[in-house]
Formats: sequence, C-alpha cells, structure tokens
Amino acid sequence: MNSCIQCKADFVISEQDKQFYQKMDVPEPVLCMYCRREHLFVWRNQRNLYSRKCDKTGKQIISVFSPNSPYVVYDRDTWWGDGWDPLAYGQEFDFSKNFAEQYDALLHRVPMVGIFNGNCENSQYCNHVGEMKDCYLAFASWTSRKVLYGDNVWDDDTCADMLETASCSGCYELIQSTNCFNTKHSMNVERCNDSWFLFDCKDCTDCIACTNLRNKQYHIFNVPYSREEYGQKKQAHNLDTRSGIEQTKKQFQEMKKNAIHRFANLIKCEDSTGDNLVGAKNSHDCFTLRENIVDSAYCINGGSTMIDVYDGYGVGAQLERGYYCVDSGVQGGDLIFGVVVWGCQYAYYNYNCHACFEIIGCTGLRNKKYCILNKQYSQEEYEALKPRVIEHMRKTGEWGHPLPPLLSPFGHNETLAYEYTPRTKEECLALGFKWQDTLPGSFGKETKNPEDLPETISEIPDSIAKEILACKQCAKNYKIITQELQFYRSKNIPIPLFCPQCRYDARRALRNPHQLWRRQCMCNRAGHEHTGRCPIEFETTYSPNRPENVFCEACYRNEVV
Ligand SMILES: [Zn+2]
Ligand SMILES: [Zn+2]
Ligand SMILES: [Zn+2]
Ligand SMILES: [Zn+2]
Repeated sequence: MNSCIQCKADFVISEQDKQFYQKMDVPEPVLCMYCRREHLFVWRNQRNLYSRKCDKTGKQIISVFSPNSPYVVYDRDTWWGDGWDPLAYGQEFDFSKNFAEQYDALLHRVPMVGIFNGNCENSQYCNHVGEMKDCYLAFASWTSRKVLYGDNVWDDDTCADMLETASCSGCYELIQSTNCFNTKHSMNVERCNDSWFLFDCKDCTDCIACTNLRNKQYHIFNVPYSREEYGQKKQAHNLDTRSGIEQTKKQFQEMKKNAIHRFANLIKCEDSTGDNLVGAKNSHDCFTLRENIVDSAYCINGGSTMIDVYDGYGVGAQLERGYYCVDSGVQGGDLIFGVVVWGCQYAYYNYNCHACFEIIGCTGLRNKKYCILNKQYSQEEYEALKPRVIEHMRKTGEWGHPLPPLLSPFGHNETLAYEYTPRTKEECLALGFKWQDTLPGSFGKETKNPEDLPETISEIPDSIAKEILACKQCAKNYKIITQELQFYRSKNIPIPLFCPQCRYDARRALRNPHQLWRRQCMCNRAGHEHTGRCPIEFETTYSPNRPENVFCEACYRNEVV
C-alpha cells in the first residue's frame, strides 16, 4: 500500500499499473488517482471564458485567459498564423536549475492561444472543441452542430443542455444518452424518441416518466395507455409550462429511486472497471470513453482507440502510450505530461504543441522536431542532450510526475480541478495551487428578474434576447441568445430560470461521480441464480450510502433486458 503525499490516503498500485510505469520508464506515482487528477486538471480551464485584448493585435477576443493573466495571449487566428515564431523564444537548458523553474519562465514569454477551438465555424464561445458548427457554450466536444450548452457531446445536432451524449438530435437536458430524437430531461437512454423524463430506457417512443423500459410506446409512469389516452394524459401534465415540468420532474425523481440501477454502464467491455464505457478491454478506473480502449486506466472523456494510456482527460483518437495527458488530438504517441499536445510523438512536458516529434519542455510549437525549451537542435545534438535532460529531471525528482500546479496558467477555481475537488482559496494556496479572484460574469445588471419570466415560451417576445436575466440560484447575469430562443420555441420549452453554470452543475449532480466503490449486489429477488441476497461484488459509481437498488449485470439482465 502506498500513501498519497498530498491527501495521505492509502492507494494501490496494481501489477498492471507497475507494468505500465516500467513501459513508460517512469517512477511509480506518489499521488493517489484523485490527487493526480487534480494536479492534471488544473491545466484545463474548460468553461471560464473572458473578454480581453489580444496582446498582438489589440483586438477584443473571447479567451480562457483572464484580462489580468500574466501570460502573453494572442487571438486564435493570429496565434495560428505565420506572423510570429515560437522558436525565437528558445532557451538553453540550464543544468544548474530544475526543469520547472526554466519551463515556467518560458511559459511566461511564449504567446498562448486565446482559446482551444480547432476547425470550428461560428462557434467562438466554445472551448476544448473540434469540428463544431454553429455551437454556443459547448465544451470538451466534437463534430457537433447547433449545440447550445453542451459538455462532452459527440455528433449531436440541434440540442441544448446536454452532458455526455452522442448522436442525439432535437434533444434537451439529456445525460449520458445516445441516438435519441426529440427527447427531454432524461438519463441513460438509447434510441428514444418524443419522450420526457426517462431513466435507463431503450427503443421507446412517446413515453413520459418511465424507468427500465425496452421497446415501449405510450407509457406514463411505466403504465401502458392507448394512443388517445396517452394524448389526454400528456396534456394534463402541462409539459409546456414550467410548473408542469417541475411537478412531473419531482414525481419522476421519486419513481427513479425504485428503478433498478445497473452497477455500471459497461457495453462490450472485458475485464474493465469504470462507467459509461463502450468497447474497453483490460482497462480500469475509466469514465466516459468509447471504442477500443485497451490496457488503460484513470482516464475520462475520449476514446476511438487508445492503448496504454494512463491519467488523461480528452484523450484518444489513436493514442498509444500516454501518461498525464489533457487533449491529445489525433494520432499521438509516447507522451508524458502533454496538455493540448495534438498529434505529437515522443513529447515530454509540453503545453499547446501540435504535430511535433521529439520535443521536451516546449510551448506554442507547430510541426517542429528535436526541440528543448523551444530551442531547436540537430538530430545528433538532440539525441545527445535528451538523455542528459531526462537524467537531470530524475535527479531533481521531476521526471514522470506532473508539473507543480503553480506552473499552470490557471487558478484552481477556473479549472476542471475545482469541479472534481472543490476547495477554498486558503486550501488551494496552502497546497500550492493558484487562485483566480475574478471569475467571468456580472451580478446586478439584470433588466428582468426570474419572477418576471412567464410560464410558457409562447408568452415570450423576441425582445427577450435583448434583456439581461439574473439566475434564480446564484444571481449571476445571463442572456438568452436568438438561436436559443428559436430552439425553445421550436421545442415548446420555457425560458430557463438558472444560468448556464448552475444548469451544468445540476446535470453533473444527477450523473454519478467519476469514482468507484466496491459493493455487493443488492438483489434478493426470487428466480435468479442466487438464493437470498446475490453474492456478486463489483466496482460501482454508486457510493455505499446511496438508496438506489444497485444490481450486478446478471440480476439487472434478469429483470430488465
Ligand atoms: Zn491523494
Ligand atoms: Zn447560476
Ligand atoms: Zn446480482
Ligand atoms: Zn438477482
């Protein structure tokens, strides 16, 4: 058993983990998986967008860097243009200093890109995204169109308020769902159409407030009706009014407590633990990854072929051998500590580098080879220097461990680290994290209060897009954009009373945490293979004190599929 140097908790390094660390030629970790996650996630400001000036053109831009950030920040297009040379900032490696100190100096000199938004069209308020079109406030997402307020969505079209969804269209408020059409306020659903408030349903159409259903139509609270009865009952729920939605939601939340909860959503997985996984093999502690995940662990969000990848967020797309990666782009390999390192090979301790080969401690590079601290060497020089730098970093105790969080350009409370491990400013500073005092957003500028917003969208005039609203929960100001108003009108959805962040937090609270507990199946139903309580144990995201009926795969299949 190892003891985490930050939180002091005991943690296990398995045989499989040891093999990975040997393969990567790195020492075993000294932080537990949650503290490692925190040290990596402070590098990812996913959702806090500021208005600030580009330091080259003076243009007003949307950026993940606050206006008072001590870094040089360029507008996205200027950064990606040819008007500057990252190698002009190159530093000689100084063997009398540790690596972090030298890299910190470089990070403060080389221009940062304002926002991480690649190959996108009309989606300037989206971050850590690629190939998005006409999207607004979508984060950590790919190849989607007309998505408003989406997090971790793939191939969604014309949807709003989505979390961890794929291939959905015309949907609203969905969590961990795929291939749905015109479905709202639902979670863990697949191929469902024209429905409301579903949990763990598949292939259902015209259903309201149902759980654990398969191939059903015209059901309400799991009770079947004729088409006519369904129409009448649906009308009585007043799902076009805020009060009707709230009331049905309350009844549904009660009903959901009695549903059967599968211990984990592992589809086509072998010898793997985690949740919301498709096609994982011999991988553990992984969450929300899809397609061909092999021999990987401690990763969240990504997929599409990843082999030997440990401690990552937003990783995959043919990544082999990656350790401590955030956003690895397409076809990466042999990465150690890479943040927004797209399509690089043999890259160690880099930030925001693209299509590079053999680089150490660089930032802002594109299509470069054999660079250390942004200084380019000949292949021979580099090959002589690389082992000396690694050896030096082993001696300083830096090699194979995440960089100190003080090097991150962001305050802990701006980043994903704060979502996963919320801490006070005092705690953050004591542990060596930074803190951002002024987060984006305003208070008290509202022209309309939540109580002034009518029950239905039909009562809302076009002028709402000119108003400033105040969130009912946190009082932060927010707006309804014209595209959003059109979406609500087409779907008959009332104006939300909460700001985008509070809505996102509410969705995150509904989905299970990215954490596993060992538990025993709660089933004691008759007619299963067991007599009395089922003895099967599993790793689940349901903590032991939760009230839901958490079943193993066999018992779940006996009852539901
Ligand atoms: Zn720890
Ligand atoms: Zn709010
Ligand atoms: Zn069982
Ligand atoms: Zn059972």
